[in-house]
Amino acid sequence: MKIIYDEKICVKCLACVTESEFGGVTFERGRIFFDETCPEDWENIFAICPVAAIKSNVTLHPVGTSATDCQSKVVAAIKKSATEVTDNVSKFSD
Ligand code: SF4
Repeated sequence: MKIIYDEKICVKCLACVTESEFGGVTFERGRIFFDETCPEDWENIFAICPVAAIKSNVTLHPVGTSATDCQSKVVAAIKKSATEVTDNVSKFSD
């Protein structure tokens, strides 16, 4: 998937940034940046834009590409959650 962003019509409301859960949409130095490799709910992010400044031309990523920074962050977050669950289970079983 490639994101098509029309900066000329973007009103910088930052709704897309707020909706982004995994850092796929960021606001830096007054500009919006997209990382389409992040596992965001992209359809929801596109839909939330009040001026339709973001769209996609949907093409799938090839299978077997290496993990991106974003994907690594997601994996780390999942591992952290799993560790917390394990710790909590241990506390309750003591
Ligand atoms: S939601 Fe749309 S208008 Fe708002 S900052 Fe994002 S791209 Fe711009």
